[in-house]
Amino acid sequence: MKLIERGPAIEEKDAFRCYADTESEVKVLRAICLGGSTTVSAGNGVRCLETELREAGIDLKQEFEAAERELGVSVLPDALFGEGTKRIMEAAESLGFKMEKTPKFIDADRCKPDGRCVFGCPEGAKWTALRFVQEARREGAEIITNTTVDEVVVKSGEVKGVRCGDRVFSDDTVVLSAGALDTPLLLEKLGLPTTSKSLFVDTFITIGGVLKGVGLSREVTMNCYVKMKEFMLAPHFSKHLVEALAMRGIKVSHADILGIMVKIKDEGRGVVNGGKGVSKGVTGRDAARLSEGASIAGSILETAGVEPGTFVATPLRGAHPGGTARIGSAVDRNLATEVDGLYVVDASVLPAAPGAPPILTIVALAKYLSKRLS
Ligand SMILES: Cc1cc2nc3c(=O)[nH]c(=O)nc-3n(C[C@H](O)[C@H](O)[C@H](O)COP(=O)(O)OP(=O)(O)OC[C@H]3O[C@@H](n4cnc5c(N)ncnc54)[C@H](O)[C@@H]3O)c2cc1C
Repeated sequence: MKLIERGPAIEEKDAFRCYADTESEVKVLRAICLGGSTTVSAGNGVRCLETELREAGIDLKQEFEAAERELGVSVLPDALFGEGTKRIMEAAESLGFKMEKTPKFIDADRCKPDGRCVFGCPEGAKWTALRFVQEARREGAEIITNTTVDEVVVKSGEVKGVRCGDRVFSDDTVVLSAGALDTPLLLEKLGLPTTSKSLFVDTFITIGGVLKGVGLSREVTMNCYVKMKEFMLAPHFSKHLVEALAMRGIKVSHADILGIMVKIKDEGRGVVNGGKGVSKGVTGRDAARLSEGASIAGSILETAGVEPGTFVATPLRGAHPGGTARIGSAVDRNLATEVDGLYVVDASVLPAAPGAPPILTIVALAKYLSKRLS
């Protein structure tokens, strides 16, 4: 078996070097390296889209259980909750919002909170897909990095392998996992159907302001959350908040910021367009969800002690690109395309914007596919 990755092999602590953001009205975040965007994740391990997938004929109960076990998903002990997170939890609860501790794939014994989860954990405490890569290598897989799959080779309706530049890797089974921005392009080159005009990204902003010395910037990020029907809120620091305050003449350090991320289930109206990149904006419904979330986040932050008059917001971003090769359109319930031997398993196949962390669901889908291939 071969695993072909466009980016380099890296140490987990260096993942921040591999961010490859795509500019659009909503900037799309991802990492290009072995292990993909899991290397820069916040370590949130939440089941999502379980009902939607069941309705599409895919029951992931066993696969979710196996994924949670293998990734070591659990909430972190109280000692790993910092002052900023606790203040947000208390304020939210005093306003009647139910804050839950976030299930994390972070090893509590190795975690030394430093706010670096999304840059690559220096302690190796956070699970990343590099662990699966190492396991595959031990089982005899060949790992080929810095190599881009340019096209899938198909003859008489059957997959024959992939072409990377002038090299062809032959095989009668190919699983595409290039992510929602690249997988549809490889399918479209074959003339296969995609949903590349239905991109979602779980659009988010972070609202924040000044609370001197609170120290959220060095805590485990998003360690608790409020789940609403169409959006979620979680404690979050962003350097964009410091920059926005500086633009207003308010100079503060990272440690002086308390912030909350507002992440919505956005409408799948973005477009992935090979030569022209990605076009992803905000619809009227998205804007309503963002503003409802921002208003609640503002109330929580004010109750938590943020100085009135210091509120700022980050630019629009999205870190969960998906939905561009959906189940039911590009692949069937076995994650198979119309070409014999060609499968897809990544965020492209997700049937709807999760508005929640999708890694656990993608891992469960990968386990589901591997059962069908073995
Ligand atoms: C900052 C950040 C924080 C996040 N935090 C969380 C979290 O806490 N929990 C959670 O569940 N989710 C989180 N996510 C989202 C999660 O990381 C992604 O949804 C998930 O990794 C998507 O998986 P994927 O396989 O679709 O794509 P990716 O993880 O992006 O993997 C695709 C891989 O394919 C490679 N590739 C692309 N094109 C080619 C090609 N032509 N040839 C060869 N290789 C190619 C890419 O380099 C990449 O390595 C976060 C994302 C970001 C950016």
